[in-house]
Amino acid sequence: MSTAGNSPQRWIRPEVQALCAYHVPDPGGLVKLDAMENPYRWPDELVEQWLEVLRKVELNRYPDPGAQALTLMLKQTMQVPEDMQLLLGNGSDELIQMLALAVAQPGRVIMAPDPTFVMYRMIAEVTGMTYQGVALAEDFSLDVAVMQAAIDRHQPAIVFLSYPNNPTGTVFDSSAVEAVIRCAPGLVVVDEAYAPFTDASFMPRLGEFSNLLVLRTVSKMGLAGLRLGLLAGAAQWLSEVDKTRLPYNINVLTQASARFALQHKAVLDEQAQQIRADRGRLSAALQALDGIQVYPSEANFILFRVPQGRADRIFAGLQEQGVLIKNLNPAGGRLQDCLRVTVGRPEENQAFLAALQKVLA
Ligand SMILES: *Cc1c(COP(=O)(O)O)cnc(C)c1O
Repeated sequence: MSTAGNSPQRWIRPEVQALCAYHVPDPGGLVKLDAMENPYRWPDELVEQWLEVLRKVELNRYPDPGAQALTLMLKQTMQVPEDMQLLLGNGSDELIQMLALAVAQPGRVIMAPDPTFVMYRMIAEVTGMTYQGVALAEDFSLDVAVMQAAIDRHQPAIVFLSYPNNPTGTVFDSSAVEAVIRCAPGLVVVDEAYAPFTDASFMPRLGEFSNLLVLRTVSKMGLAGLRLGLLAGAAQWLSEVDKTRLPYNINVLTQASARFALQHKAVLDEQAQQIRADRGRLSAALQALDGIQVYPSEANFILFRVPQGRADRIFAGLQEQGVLIKNLNPAGGRLQDCLRVTVGRPEENQAFLAALQKVLA
């Protein structure tokens, strides 16, 4: 029985009540180009070998709490510098949450460029911190002067830089990122979720900056279902952040499967190369369409702008044609009139282009 005294309105924190739950649409039978997933499965014989590995996993036992074998493999395959440590998360989202939990105090600021990945704001708000978005330049590049002024003013505990940036696809100028790292009073987390699709990375430069951490995930490289992210940086930071981690956050199936996948990383690398090549083709085909403005991307998705006021109808029209992408128009601001398409298999990209042409006509 619910009364005013024990109602959720009384007890759930106001900042949580004010949040909108992260909404993931049901793709039904649609061509799914909305969530930056790798569209490729493994060859059948690899699936068989993987199932053999899983057969031996002891589900009755707790996982290795430190996931040591997996951590060692990740250090090698992700080219983490020798003197740096790794902290693993149930997806990189969990690592963003651990970072926030480790620094959260009322009035403390988490900062990121705007527009960017929405989880930085959501996690800042859930942990009772203040979120400060800082406008990107017109072309979605990082405006160093504006960023430095905002950092001076708000003294953020953490600055998150999605690199390449989601949802714009932009890789910020490395000297601009460096300027941000140098003037930030706290941590700067360079989020390299799209590392498989770009040559740009701050991973090799971790040792140059005492306040830099690099965040990676295996999600966009083809293992989104496993939920595994990694945070790389100096032990003095990671050992503190690690205290906010729940024990056994990386389950036995994920540990075994990720180790297996990394042993066969060549398959994933090949898929990433294919996606990079198809991104170029998709981008060129989009650019050739009348009224479409395409933003350059170094990720596995492409942001594009449609004629003013038509984004919602184009998005709905694509869905009627059986293609699901992401509508960013409701986010407003600089993303008004923008849609984002994930690079899929060639035939999926073709289906998307054909549907778009039809809807635009
Ligand atoms: C997709 C994405 C993530 C989340 O990755 P998970 O490891 O699946 O939680 C993190 N950062 C950015 C910028 C992303 O686009």
